[in-house]
Amino acid sequence: KNYTRVDILNSAKENNVKYVRLQFTDMLGVVKNVEIPVTNLERALSNEIMFDGSSIQGFVRIDEADMYLYPDLSTWLILEWETLSEGKVARLICDIYTTEHVPFDGDPRFILKRNLERMKSLGFEKFNVGVEPEFFLFKLDEHGRPTMEFSDLGGYFDLAPIDGSEDVRRDIVLELEKMGFDMEVSHHEVAFGQHEINFHFDNALEACDNIQTFKIVVKNVARRHGYHATFMPKPIQGINGSGMHTNCSLSKDGVNLFYDPTTHNQLSETALKFIAGVMKHAQEFALVTNPTVNSYKRLVPGYEAPCYISWSDANRSTMIRIPAARGNATRIEVRSVDASANPYLAISGVLASGLYGIENNLKTLSPIKKNLFKMSDAERKRLGIKNLPESLKEAVDNFSSSSLMKETIGDFLFEKLIEAKCREWNEYKVRVTPYELEKYLPII
Ligand code: GLN
Ligand code: MG
Ligand code: MG
Ligand code: MG
Repeated sequence: KNYTRVDILNSAKENNVKYVRLQFTDMLGVVKNVEIPVTNLERALSNEIMFDGSSIQGFVRIDEADMYLYPDLSTWLILEWETLSEGKVARLICDIYTTEHVPFDGDPRFILKRNLERMKSLGFEKFNVGVEPEFFLFKLDEHGRPTMEFSDLGGYFDLAPIDGSEDVRRDIVLELEKMGFDMEVSHHEVAFGQHEINFHFDNALEACDNIQTFKIVVKNVARRHGYHATFMPKPIQGINGSGMHTNCSLSKDGVNLFYDPTTHNQLSETALKFIAGVMKHAQEFALVTNPTVNSYKRLVPGYEAPCYISWSDANRSTMIRIPAARGNATRIEVRSVDASANPYLAISGVLASGLYGIENNLKTLSPIKKNLFKMSDAERKRLGIKNLPESLKEAVDNFSSSSLMKETIGDFLFEKLIEAKCREWNEYKVRVTPYELEKYLPII
């Protein structure tokens, strides 16, 4: 919404807002905030609020740590679930500026904006993004700590009473609707205690802001019901993990540019080149779409998550699926993405890869009709199908040597991200796991 300063000040008064959260997202995708009393709102709206960035992941610069918060006025929102006894809490999503009053190049939201500007310079208007986040609900123990006990023993699309968490899902949907979300569907997912909730697609920047808000609401509502909600990609070995399928398309003047009624599959040349660009760089952008050690435990055969780089118009074993809808709903579904990603960086990675395909007239490989999980390695090799990275280490290596990713993320955060992710891998790799003890201790 196009709020002005005056609209916001009025809305704060009318709704008896007492505190305003100034929010932003750090490199790792974590939402951070500085809260101000409403008496400071005018100063905030004049971009006068500063904070010390030195303890925020990916924000530290050598020479200075002070940063400015520039609120994006269109993100003004009253956080209904945080009603205090004497008033309300609102939030504004902010861009990060340096003391020289220029956008901070380590701000993920700014990085996405920069990529969207590039997209516009190529003649496109919008990158429409609609996500399908999945999450688990686990019971909290008497101290309020998460257990590994499922909220319910339901399965895909089950109904109450098997699906005991229906009321939690409904509450989440209601809460989001109150906040102005356009909710689509919600359902129980395949695994015990696993759920999926979808909201309407939006232009990439708004979609990413929404993802961040969505996660906070899911976690808060779940806690109210005595559950811990987690978007961790693979909390339990041996059953499905949680993804965040990312549906996307390019449009201009309200026309979907992935749709072409005259071709055999009604996909445009633009769509095919975009797919080719995404496939070409899938190994390189995996670090931003799947940024954790745990992400790679999800991308294994047999659990509806992709591990091979391919596309198809129906088959769900491929990394990119083309949902059946055409016309303005024509889109590609990137199925590798998970919700541990920083959405601003993940969407930047996918967008830049797709645009590369368009600019360089890449040719798309043929779609895959068969179930890839049932194909032999040799058969996949013959068809030229490559694998997604199998570990965070492999993802970091592919990302570090990608000139497209360096350009897309920008030198500053590119280096910071590699540094942080190498550290994460090194922490993980020195662990001696139960697997090793079980396997080797008795016999070696
Ligand atoms: N949970 C699956 C994944 O990890 C997706 C299942 C589905 O939505 N069909 O991607
Ligand atoms: Mg879905
Ligand atoms: Mg799903
Ligand atoms: Mg899907």
